[in-house]
Amino acid sequence: MAIGKKYIYFFGSGKADGNGAMKDLLGGKGAGLAEMTNAGVPVPPGFTITTEVCNLFYDLGKRVPDGLDGEMRGYMTKVEEALGGKYTFGDVSRPLLVSVRSGSKFSMPGMMDTVLNLGLNDQTINGLIRMSGNERFAWDAYRRFIQMFGNVVMGIEKDQFEHIIHEAKKKKKVHLDLELTAEDLKVLVAKFKVKVKQIAKRDFPQDHWEQLLMARDAVFGSWNNPRAITYRKLNDIPGNLGTAVNVQSMVFGNMGETSATGVGFTRNPSTGTKEFYGEYLTNAQGEDVVAGIRTPRPIVNLEKEMPAVYKQLRETTTMLEKHYRDVQDFEFTVQEGTLFMLQTRTGKRTAHAAVKIAVDMVGEGLITKDEAVLRVEPASLDQLLHPIIDPKAKIQVIAKGLPASPGAASGKVVFTADEAVKQAKKDKVILVRPETTPDDIHGMDAAKGILTARGGMTSHAAVVARGMGKPCVAGCESIKVDLKAERFSVNGVTVKLNDWITIDGGTGRVILGKVPTVEPTVSGDFGTLMKWADEVRTLGVRANADIPRDAKMAMQFGAEGIGLCRTEHMFFAADRLPHVQQMILADTTEDREKALAKLLPMQRSDFKGLFETMGGLPVTIRLLDPPLHEFLPKREDLMVEVAVMQAKKAPKASITKKEKLLRRVEDLHELNPMLGHRGCRLGIVYPEITRMQTRAIIEAACDLAKKGKKVIPEIMVPLVGIKKELQNQKEIIKSVAEEVMKKKGVRIDYLIGTMIELPRAAVIADEIAKEAEFFSFGTNDLTQTTFGFSRDDAGKFIGYYTENNILEKDPFQTLDQEGVGQLIKMGVTKGRSTRQNLKVGICGEHGGDPASVEFCFKAGLNYVSCSPFRVPIARLAAAQAKLKEKGMGGSVSK
Ligand code: ADP
Ligand code: MG
Ligand code: MG
Repeated sequence: MAIGKKYIYFFGSGKADGNGAMKDLLGGKGAGLAEMTNAGVPVPPGFTITTEVCNLFYDLGKRVPDGLDGEMRGYMTKVEEALGGKYTFGDVSRPLLVSVRSGSKFSMPGMMDTVLNLGLNDQTINGLIRMSGNERFAWDAYRRFIQMFGNVVMGIEKDQFEHIIHEAKKKKKVHLDLELTAEDLKVLVAKFKVKVKQIAKRDFPQDHWEQLLMARDAVFGSWNNPRAITYRKLNDIPGNLGTAVNVQSMVFGNMGETSATGVGFTRNPSTGTKEFYGEYLTNAQGEDVVAGIRTPRPIVNLEKEMPAVYKQLRETTTMLEKHYRDVQDFEFTVQEGTLFMLQTRTGKRTAHAAVKIAVDMVGEGLITKDEAVLRVEPASLDQLLHPIIDPKAKIQVIAKGLPASPGAASGKVVFTADEAVKQAKKDKVILVRPETTPDDIHGMDAAKGILTARGGMTSHAAVVARGMGKPCVAGCESIKVDLKAERFSVNGVTVKLNDWITIDGGTGRVILGKVPTVEPTVSGDFGTLMKWADEVRTLGVRANADIPRDAKMAMQFGAEGIGLCRTEHMFFAADRLPHVQQMILADTTEDREKALAKLLPMQRSDFKGLFETMGGLPVTIRLLDPPLHEFLPKREDLMVEVAVMQAKKAPKASITKKEKLLRRVEDLHELNPMLGHRGCRLGIVYPEITRMQTRAIIEAACDLAKKGKKVIPEIMVPLVGIKKELQNQKEIIKSVAEEVMKKKGVRIDYLIGTMIELPRAAVIADEIAKEAEFFSFGTNDLTQTTFGFSRDDAGKFIGYYTENNILEKDPFQTLDQEGVGQLIKMGVTKGRSTRQNLKVGICGEHGGDPASVEFCFKAGLNYVSCSPFRVPIARLAAAQAKLKEKGMGGSVSK
């Protein structure tokens, strides 16, 4: 053993070797016990073996360092002294019993369960009987110990013991454990020991030290059991933290009616209300409260039953909350009228409670505004912005997909967009599709929620639903959609047209039937917290919004402009699509311009609406981006239609017309549309499209400017990879803008910039910045093109990648800082090297992801832009990024 290295920390007699700040070394439980001891709280004495030993345990091939066993003996003596020498570990007449408890930095279900009453054996049981004068209690303690030790240390199934208890009760014709007598329990102990021998092929260890060392090693071993590993992965907890082992002298809540055990919170963890909250059971031990065998009583009842204890408990926990300056989740035991605290930790809470508690605590002078801002997990705000499933509701989950857009919605199932529109007039509907395409927009708009069998977090359904603020479960691969039969089936359940289902886009759950939901309330506290966040942050937050309704919502959520208006969404509206198709089908530039002329007034009024809604805030408008065939019917559908028309001998002219459409669709057909004729490539080959869109933008702006309204359009050219592409489009935009302004007799300020969404653009950003007045990183495409992952197909393997640690996270959800992030940094630096005041933003889906927001802040971006519903999340994340830069740590608990 390394000389001078301290591996064990004592706590007891009002003094501990460690303290509350040592969570890394002592684990959360150990640090809490030390801190409480130092604060004078009654804590049964004990010692903590550090997490370092856990890591050594693995380094040494599942063996603790030499000398540790001996040291433990020394510390056990200290525990005995702290108890006034009244008890001795292993002593036959006055045995000291201990608990062995695991505890890492973050509380982790999945690790070893606690073993209570360790130190009991066939001899010490007699001591316990004599000391307590309660034979039944002693035998109950012994049978519990064999049960727990047998299960968690020796790996014997719980059922093996439960079965024996069950048989005993059946034989006596009783229902409750409490109805078993001392004599019955004594028989159980004998039977348990036989069972252990039978299964573990060894006797139940009678030596108290052997028991302790076995339990210790089982705790260390549990750090790497599959449950624990899975839990760490799901919660982003590093695997090298290790767990500590706490050995603590036992106190007994099961010594009669003046004894009790319970758990509680210093404030209500689901509402945040400042009230004492918790449950307890008299004459019970440890896990009985949460085990659900007996119904525990509300903690306020304790005031009547044990007034003095209650008063002390309130005082103690109030003190702990003040001390830690956060809500405490505590465990206590009362042994014959004396209170002992066994655990305290930061209480987990709902988003709603987190906001209320943070704001209340500022009011109480407990924490600062900055701390309050750091106390709320930005992503959790989602819970406050969408309806959620009533937590009290009984539900039947039939499938699980990706949580693509949060919120819960119930509706009747429909399988086509048209059906959705039709049915939505009388009822709520959920649109269920194998996947959605731009053709389905009207149906998605009419539906309350969207469920797809295929597609990832950035699939069409997911992106559009998030933009609409509508619940969506995407990529629910287990459901088999049969469009013809109008039904889907999953795990033996068949859901037909018009059957009710509920989807929870926050968790990905698909639920059978109608389920009550709870509406979100953007309460006063929420507003207050957001105001504090705004006071801190320096990173701007804009929204991606295409229509005035979304823009209005974005403003309500605090957006400071529009970072991305996708103009193609304006082309999909039912009254426009025919003109768009006419434009695409035109053989000559002249014909194309004719069709575009019909679209012009519509686009102009769209932009006017947006500008007016945003009241002088900047609006970034992206020129047409998707490949043209997206606006035309599907090739396969047309082929069928032509065949049907021919078979039915339809009029020649109409067949010819269809055939022409089919030919054009075939002309436009692309093997790889994502890398095809899209983005600025469209406006370059068909300059009349850019001309029309620019005209619509500048005319709208001029009209408003004439009425004295401030407008700042930012025209954004998509998918630029070559400097000359931008130059080409810029020239067109400038000349049209000049012409319009001259004609309207008014001048407005406008900017011309570009998306950076191709690696080449990032690499030559210095050259591009000479032409661009702003950059906006389109990280959906940039991720796609950097990885070479098709974002529509990546769902097929990304899951495997993340499960097998090839990728840590889905890069379409959380920005890949290592790769894509490098390109962003390079783009910013190079861009500003040739244009110092270059404005830089991000408008991909990542703009609302807290970790990505922090990255954008660090990379020096001016703003992030995300869907309206994620604006508050981005605002809070931006404020936290700023505070972290100032050196304030995040205090959000895992
Ligand atoms: P968990 O991590 O699951 O909360 P704990 O180690 O806190 O596990 O313990 C499980 C139960 O046993 C809790 O109810 C706790 O209060 C109780 N317990 C643990 N140690 C002791 C002890 N020394 N005396 C009495 N009860 C204990
Ligand atoms: Mg506990
Ligand atoms: Mg793009």
